[in-house]
Amino acid sequence: MLSFSAHYFDGRLTDPVPARATPQAGGVSIEIPSGTLFWPGDSFRVAGAGPPVSLATLAQPVQSLVVQDRRFLDQIVYHHPAHAQPRRRNPALTAAFSLLGALALLAISLPFLAGFLVILIPNSWEERLGRLAFEAHTQGTPVCATPPIIETIVERLDRGGEFSFRVTVLDDLQVNAFALPGGRIGVYRGLLERLRSPEELAAVLAHEIEHVTQRHSTSALLRTLSLGALITLVTGEPGAATEIGRQLASLHFSRQAEEQADRAGARRLARAGIHPEAMIRVFELLESLAAAAPPAYLSTHPPAAARREIIRDEVAGLKVFSRPLPDAAWPPPRQSCR
Ligand SMILES: [Zn+2]
Repeated sequence: MLSFSAHYFDGRLTDPVPARATPQAGGVSIEIPSGTLFWPGDSFRVAGAGPPVSLATLAQPVQSLVVQDRRFLDQIVYHHPAHAQPRRRNPALTAAFSLLGALALLAISLPFLAGFLVILIPNSWEERLGRLAFEAHTQGTPVCATPPIIETIVERLDRGGEFSFRVTVLDDLQVNAFALPGGRIGVYRGLLERLRSPEELAAVLAHEIEHVTQRHSTSALLRTLSLGALITLVTGEPGAATEIGRQLASLHFSRQAEEQADRAGARRLARAGIHPEAMIRVFELLESLAAAAPPAYLSTHPPAAARREIIRDEVAGLKVFSRPLPDAAWPPPRQSCR
């Protein structure tokens, strides 16, 4: 029996453990410093044909095994023909996945680098991550057609940036909005219908756009997910990705990231000819709503009073030449939702 040097991830801790993996009849045995594991042949799947080759368990938490030697997969298939890969992957794609594995490994070993490494992640992957997370996050919530005023605002706020932003209105009464990697932004009808002007909506969107362009959710993801989970996400089937998408969708940003999104969002508004005062008015609105019942937005963001001060500070140094947003019926008439 051939045995291979490997890295084992237990799905909880982010640090890899050195391992030796031996494919054999019945499954694969994995020696790690604390003992020997045995994965029966039908308890895992090939998450990446590599190199590196990666296996991931079907049960949660997803444990994974990463082996650099491509012959490892041949041995797995020899003992368990069901794991034969149906078709060869596109070589460019394979190289891309290996790069992702290497990046994730680095990010895991050196968490403080995650924020830096995130700039190496291609935008197309962020878009895929965002799409998966969006689907997982909004499962069961009807999605409404986007009112034209939203497109107008996004065009004003984002002039030829690197992401193409897609704002979706969700038919739910919670007072909240969120941003996902790659440019997916969600605004709940409960928030949209409480905002008092298109400028206030622009203020909310400017903040969320900054979360995307500053890659807050993508770097949080790199810090949070194990290599196995990351590989599953980029190479795996939609089913396996759903759970990870849910995790991603529920990530909270640090206070520092929120402040950065507020300050940069205020500057973005000013550049677009929209007075950042609108942002302060949004926080006042949220505070007044909180007197009755704290809106979801406040539970995922720092206290509104502190944020108002930050914006005041930022606005003090800005020159703004306001241009009105087009006159539109406000709030935008409800579009069809399904
Ligand atoms: Zn935020």
